[in-house]
Amino acid sequence: MPAILLAGKPIAEKIKAKLKEEIETLKSKFNTIPTLATIQVGENPQATIYLKSQKKNTLELGIEFQEHPLPATTTEKELIDYIGKLNQDKEVTGILLQLPLPPHINSKDIPIHIDPRKDVEGIHPENVGQAIFGKMRIGSCTALAVMELIKSTGVDLYGKEAVIVGHSEIVGKPVSLLLLDKFATTTTCHIATGQRGYLPTHVKRAEILVVAVGRPGIIQGEWVQEGAIVIDVGINKVGDKIVGDVEFEKASEKASYITPVPGGVGPLTVTILMRNLVEAFKIQHNIN
Ligand code: NAD
Repeated sequence: MPAILLAGKPIAEKIKAKLKEEIETLKSKFNTIPTLATIQVGENPQATIYLKSQKKNTLELGIEFQEHPLPATTTEKELIDYIGKLNQDKEVTGILLQLPLPPHINSKDIPIHIDPRKDVEGIHPENVGQAIFGKMRIGSCTALAVMELIKSTGVDLYGKEAVIVGHSEIVGKPVSLLLLDKFATTTTCHIATGQRGYLPTHVKRAEILVVAVGRPGIIQGEWVQEGAIVIDVGINKVGDKIVGDVEFEKASEKASYITPVPGGVGPLTVTILMRNLVEAFKIQHNIN
């Protein structure tokens, strides 16, 4: 039987409906509007697409959206100083840094300078670390989107074999921690796993498979276990099409659930960003 499609949009709509109500209540209680400040250094077509979608979401939810475009020549120190100003600005609830940054700025050096209470992308080491204790209030948007998709299947994760392919700070590592927190038995694969030729061995064992590599079709459909849940985070441009990291057609014949690309993880990620912003607002106003 072909897999059930796990689309992100219906889940995103449900979360947004709840957020809208919550934002109304917060606005009337505190007489102030949650505000998202976004910084873009230089011009980048990809970042501009994300920016448009973020703006649309804030408008829908009644969130204030501030754009802070900085010149491409901005130095790392100037960027850090600018973030420092937004950290101090009482009007600003959340700070979002559009990626990619120009090559002269090391994006890994920046998250530590964002006030963890304003870190709506969940990239500050303090927020990343909370995942270890299972107490994360603000977390990686993509990782939390993956967890929402898995949760929507209703499948109990306790003791399940979960294989995560990719170990980046924003996707693979946080997803591994979040699944571990649900008592899944986790295996995290990465470039060295691939280079040693062990990917098929691990993938074949996966009851839950999450792939975030950025290489089209790196996961062959025939490796997917019968009945597995497959979450494909990858976004790859092939010709004029966007495809994921998993061979979709073949994998769909074996999986029980599978995310489409596009239309799976992507639409949920920006909604989780909005949820993080509301969580940041609540933290700043001492609401549990
Ligand atoms: P990254 O480049 O930071 O990490 C890639 C990971 O893949 C690394 O852990 C690396 O070790 C691993 N890898 C590389 N080659 C491999 C191989 N041959 N075998 C096994 N592992 C291998 O990427 P990222 O930021 O985590 O993003 C991964 C993909 O997810 C990209 O396509 C990106 O566009 C997409 N993405 C999507 C969303 C979304 O909202 N849908 C969000 C973030 C990233």
